[in-house]
Amino acid sequence: MQGMIDLHTHSVYSDGTTSPADNAAMAIRGGLSGLALTDHDTCEGLAEAAGACADHGLAFIPGIELSCEHEGFSVHLLGYWVDPDDEALTAECDRLRDERLHRARAILAKLDALGMPVTFDAVQSRAGGAPVGRPHIAGALVAAGHVPDLQGAFDAYLRDGGPAYVEKHALAPGDGLALLRGAGAAVVLAHPGLSERGRQGRRGRMAAGSVDIALVDELLAGGLAGIEVDHPGHDADALARWRGVAVERELLITASSDFHGDNKDIRIGQRASSAAVVERLAEHADAARTRRAGTW
Ligand code: AMP
Ligand code: ZN
Ligand code: FE
Ligand code: FE
Repeated sequence: MQGMIDLHTHSVYSDGTTSPADNAAMAIRGGLSGLALTDHDTCEGLAEAAGACADHGLAFIPGIELSCEHEGFSVHLLGYWVDPDDEALTAECDRLRDERLHRARAILAKLDALGMPVTFDAVQSRAGGAPVGRPHIAGALVAAGHVPDLQGAFDAYLRDGGPAYVEKHALAPGDGLALLRGAGAAVVLAHPGLSERGRQGRRGRMAAGSVDIALVDELLAGGLAGIEVDHPGHDADALARWRGVAVERELLITASSDFHGDNKDIRIGQRASSAAVVERLAEHADAARTRRAGTW
């Protein structure tokens, strides 16, 4: 493998606005050599993405961004080379999809109480059958004229700890990691600095940091491969801090765009990882699969 690979992109199979084929075409235009599709809590777009990447001569990494929960905050885990047919993972994705519907209704009830009503149908039609995410609700808030734009919807209502925020009942990160490893994946902690921003919002101050570090060390013991240090949502402080955390623990450092189509002002390939990093990630996935096959 060579060139640069964007390790975190979404499509209409979760809360992005583009098809997997669009993502592949944009990756080519952006000069990338490879692409991961990492939709939230679903593997449904992977077959389509694999075909599109093959058509374009792009390396493809089948991925997922699994929602987990830690002390009431969302923690996202990226699983690479995940087996889309793994039974335990599929069951958790089904459960999360259901959970997301309940949670969307709870968020809408909060918005209603805040005088910002949007209908469940409006949200569901924006999701178009994909697991319902906050960006779909944000879109409905914009369409209803309650907020000027998507970011405004998050800042005013939907951000972690915001007035209309509702947690997803999800696995603890350690359990999510084990689930992904069991499905043959190399696991990377997604955008840890974003979770921090959520904490700041809810508690009105920066988290001390010790919780996050303890969590990283727990995940490290469970076979974490890396940290998504270079993410567009990380400011200079978060970048430096999480780079330090990763370097100290000899964790891989990944860079990715977290592309969401029109839902965010970010291009595919705006951040990307080197082939060398991706090859080391692949070794982690090989180890997970070997372990799963019970050969050691
Ligand atoms: P959900 O999976 O429903 O909790 O939604 C998660 C998605 O919401 C993330 O992938 C981001 O796209 C978006 N998101 C979460 N927090 C924010 C924020 N503070 N500002 C903008 N987008 C956010
Ligand atoms: Zn998303
Ligand atoms: Fe995420
Ligand atoms: Fe994401």
